[in-house]
Amino acid sequence: AETSSVEWNKAPCRFCGTGCHVQVGVENGKVVAVAGDKDAEVNKGLLCVKGYHVGSALYGKDRLTQPLLRRGDKYEEITWDQALDVIADRIEGAPERFAFYGSGQWTIPEGYAAQKFMKGGLANNHIDPNARLCMASAVTGFLATYGVDEPAGCYDDLDRCDVLIMWGNNPAEMHPVLFSRVIDRRSRGEKIELIDIGTRRTRTTEQCQHYLEMKGHGDVAIALGIAHLLIKNDAYDHQFVESFCNFKSPDPENPNLHGKSISFEEYKQSLEPYTPEYVEELSGVPAEKIRMLADLFANPDIRITSLWCMGMNQHTMGTAINSLVHGVHLLSGHFGKPGDAPTSLTGQPSACGTVREVGTLAHALPGGRVVANPEHRQQCEAFWNLPAGTINPQPGYHTVEMWEQFCTPSDEGGDIDTIWVQVTNPGQTLPNLRKLFNAKEGLEDKFLIVSDVYPTATTRLADLILPSAMWVEKNGVVGNSERRTQQWFKMVEPPGDARDDTWQTLAVARRLFDRGYAGMSDKDGRFLFEVVDETGSPVPAWQWEHYYDVNFDKHLFEEYRQFSRLKHKDLAPYDEYVKARGMRWPVVEQPDGNWEETRFRFVEKDDPYVKAGTGIQFYHSSTKDDRAQLWFHPYEPPAEVPDETYPLMMTTGRVLEHWHSGSMTRRIPELSRAMPSAYVEMNPDDARDRDIRNGDLVSIRSRRGELQLQAWLNGRGRPPRGTVFVPFFDETLLINELTLDAVDPFSKQPDYKKSAVEIVKV
Ligand code: SF4
Repeated sequence: AETSSVEWNKAPCRFCGTGCHVQVGVENGKVVAVAGDKDAEVNKGLLCVKGYHVGSALYGKDRLTQPLLRRGDKYEEITWDQALDVIADRIEGAPERFAFYGSGQWTIPEGYAAQKFMKGGLANNHIDPNARLCMASAVTGFLATYGVDEPAGCYDDLDRCDVLIMWGNNPAEMHPVLFSRVIDRRSRGEKIELIDIGTRRTRTTEQCQHYLEMKGHGDVAIALGIAHLLIKNDAYDHQFVESFCNFKSPDPENPNLHGKSISFEEYKQSLEPYTPEYVEELSGVPAEKIRMLADLFANPDIRITSLWCMGMNQHTMGTAINSLVHGVHLLSGHFGKPGDAPTSLTGQPSACGTVREVGTLAHALPGGRVVANPEHRQQCEAFWNLPAGTINPQPGYHTVEMWEQFCTPSDEGGDIDTIWVQVTNPGQTLPNLRKLFNAKEGLEDKFLIVSDVYPTATTRLADLILPSAMWVEKNGVVGNSERRTQQWFKMVEPPGDARDDTWQTLAVARRLFDRGYAGMSDKDGRFLFEVVDETGSPVPAWQWEHYYDVNFDKHLFEEYRQFSRLKHKDLAPYDEYVKARGMRWPVVEQPDGNWEETRFRFVEKDDPYVKAGTGIQFYHSSTKDDRAQLWFHPYEPPAEVPDETYPLMMTTGRVLEHWHSGSMTRRIPELSRAMPSAYVEMNPDDARDRDIRNGDLVSIRSRRGELQLQAWLNGRGRPPRGTVFVPFFDETLLINELTLDAVDPFSKQPDYKKSAVEIVKV
């Protein structure tokens, strides 16, 4: 029999935050096959349509293979050596006017290198990731409630819940493997009730027993309505609340995540107006459905899991709705048992691992530290062996501010001159693109550096384009939505001169060091990213030919791991992840030398940091009494509401076949054929009013822009009257030229789900 020469190795899928495990088959230096890992806990052998094609994402015909420098309206091929000089010149000229824009697709070492380069090296906090656009409100919701970020539960909750409530979430398309885990239970005869609270019918709705169609911001009213009924009917969990909760409301005098403490009586009074009938008025969801939800939460004998993603995060009340949903679970005691959990999902593969844990946000430092805290700054300075006072105490610009500053002429006060973008596509995904991205065109003194694998909507305005290695062309470590850290090794060579993003950051740092730039050396004059081999000799990893002489990823991961203990997010040594299919933190060494993961945080027996006899302990409580904060936030309407000129509410989002801006999946012929271009989903009655038929070309207009695309009636998604939906994956139809850039006041995350538009037939 013929012997296959395909070599199989493990990696996580490159795409969504589910973090499915794949087996990657390599033959003759090329990825030739991908399979779901049947032993994997996350996906149990399954992949979705994107995952099965992930290998093809490497082989689009237009991979970037050489650094390109803009000369007038043309690009000239340059060497890496020249490219490093161009970047070093821009930074040296004005380090405080330089910004780094990264991603939840950065691996942990990539993000760690970038934030150390900025915060430790340049003493500049203007680094922020695209995750600001997708899950910043989940972070502020967790911080406001538990004093520490990231979900207490995990995917095992999906296997144990009796009721799954999806809040503005469409997992059938966005996290298909997770959703199939639930549907699989039902097909095996298990009883599970699925409830979809959404603004349009989707593929998820088709599988649900209940569909609660709400207006924009209706989720806030619904959560308040449930809490109102739990208290009015005396159906809340007295014991849980008395043992484990405090009450909070926003403090208008001092708006921050601590809010002001209120009594139970004040909390109760604040909720009084939110009767089911008033909630129906605000949300559009019938009062009896609010009662149904409250009755479910009032039942202690069932397990309820809430799931959410962009619908609750891309929201000008994002922090509020996140806190309110946590609050409903806490108030009812549906917390801390397998299947009883409020759980947010992330869109990107390492939004948790790289952004939230490593600390690549503009206010953050590694391991849950923040730049505004003097003790945290000192810890990082000591660890990096930097002079005291190096780290800037001022948070840098968050994403929207950063791009606003970049797109404002310098003589009008725009104080960011250069942005380096890695692993993301802001030219397609920022809101209000004409203001926050396109306005860069013609600003001669502004300089955009883009590291990517393909030309994108962002490279169209780049001054310097750097070719990047992707996925299994490099080593990596990522952290998915359930706190699971996964590692993989490089399996194939990147094309041409494409190189790892970590190497790119390292090489620029070294170029600055060689020029004598003080920030790139520690107190003893050593290079900030120095790495030594087994004999203790420094390795010139900044020279590409020596980069893989050491496992630089391992070096950075081990360095970062030392930061992870402060907030009890302990990670195992790198080599443990080489052996495992991923582990959920905190991961703690056992007396027998094994490393054990944690499924349910804050819960005795599962979480090693919970004191024996406490049952549940919120050990990072912001009130320092081991209690969670149960918030009241009053309902507020969306930042933009339909009017006579713009009578329709537009929501944007993703589709099954494409991952985010489509820069990878649009290169995969099977996926591109299946979903070739963007469209606008309309309600048939709205279409009829405008004489629009299925497939007609229409013009959609907002206060910020106009776009022509095809109308889709009674298609995959079915918006109610008065609303429309447009996916954002299509770089030829940039819907974000129309979206609003209003942000949540705490998380600074924009709301892509509620822009007022009008549509006319072309
Ligand atoms: Fe990849 Fe997400 Fe699909 Fe899993 S569900 S195969 S992680 S895209």
